[in-house]
Amino acid sequence: MISTHIAGYRQQFFIPDGVIYLDGNSLGVLPKATAAAVAKTVEQEWGNGLICSWNTADWVNAPRRCGDKIARLIGANAGEAIACDSTSVNLFKSLLTALALQVKAPERNVIISDIDNFPTDLYIAQGLRDLLASRTLELKFVKRAEMESTIAAFGARTAVVMLTQVDYRTGERYDMKAITALVQSKGALMLWDLAHSTCAFPVELNACNADLAVGCSYKYVNGGPGAPAFVFAAKRHLDTLDAAGTSAPISGWFAHEAPFAFDPLFKVTRGIERFTVGTPPILQFAALEASLDMWLTVDMHALRSASVVLTERFIAEVESQCAGFGLTLATPRGADIRGSQVSFRHAEGYAIIQALIARGVIGDFRAPDVLRFGFTPLYVTEDDVVQAARHLREVMQSREYLRSEFRARGKVT
Ligand SMILES: *Cc1c(COP(=O)(O)O)cnc(C)c1O
Repeated sequence: MISTHIAGYRQQFFIPDGVIYLDGNSLGVLPKATAAAVAKTVEQEWGNGLICSWNTADWVNAPRRCGDKIARLIGANAGEAIACDSTSVNLFKSLLTALALQVKAPERNVIISDIDNFPTDLYIAQGLRDLLASRTLELKFVKRAEMESTIAAFGARTAVVMLTQVDYRTGERYDMKAITALVQSKGALMLWDLAHSTCAFPVELNACNADLAVGCSYKYVNGGPGAPAFVFAAKRHLDTLDAAGTSAPISGWFAHEAPFAFDPLFKVTRGIERFTVGTPPILQFAALEASLDMWLTVDMHALRSASVVLTERFIAEVESQCAGFGLTLATPRGADIRGSQVSFRHAEGYAIIQALIARGVIGDFRAPDVLRFGFTPLYVTEDDVVQAARHLREVMQSREYLRSEFRARGKVT
């Protein structure tokens, strides 16, 4: 059963008629409050307030204000998180910051990650290695099954381990506390990507003694397409960077201690603002902040219970209704090592998802063969789950996915 606390949120979202939306792990739906908040920012603050709104509407502090709100959702304190840029850019800044924190240990030249990590995470590390050729960074991207042994073997030479807590394909979840402790026992730093964790289940960065983290706000957070992402750095590390006078990872004017002094010399600001770069996108921030204000009223443990109800039910429904159609579960059966998604593998995965979308059941496909369904308990019901499984059975039974219109691929899958 889903609690009435969680079920009550559905009416706060705009959900198109006839749609069962199981893709909130890729783009969260529109909260009704967001449309009004963006309209106010456009018409009143931009339209009438013009440039004065940087001060009068406090636009200038939006990254920090939203960062402090995000901090409460990920088990961090005010001043440890800031909303800015994209997750990809924030990964770049966080990896550079990890290297800066390891400045006294130049022998630590390894970055470890999971070969199945989201590609942008791996691409950013590769680009950094090529950019910092003088530091001869070595990348070790290994299978999940080899993660612990790799950290044990190479940890003493490792600067930072970068992992996404929940695998974007399978939904399998790393044990944040245990992995962080293992990495730190070797003297390395731990960088978590929370793209599929934030607002999917309770995250406790400080209780896990996390060093650095990044995350995405347009998935489970419902911050809108292209919403500002975020960075987390533990206070102890911010203090170390401040004491050492370490420069900003990207030394734009918003990371300057006094941007409006227009000093030709860069002087880094203190605290989490060191991660900001340039002018924040205020319309996106208006959308993000509206969703964050809603999230701050949600009981995350109740959210998690509802997520487990929905994911377990979907697995059970698909396995009973769609037996014999060649769909194999890619997600762990143990709810304790699962995020808030369920994935199945099938060679015709892409076309099956297209056939489901034509029926109003929106999931997505991830190459090579993963059908992915996200469960966002604030607006997905148990009835949605049952209906989605029925549609999947009908698509498999009728083999309608073989129709040519379902086989043409768009740029975004
Ligand atoms: C969605 C996602 C991203 C997205 O990065 P952008 O810079 O926002 O495009 C990054 N990492 C992971 C693990 C993701 O799931």
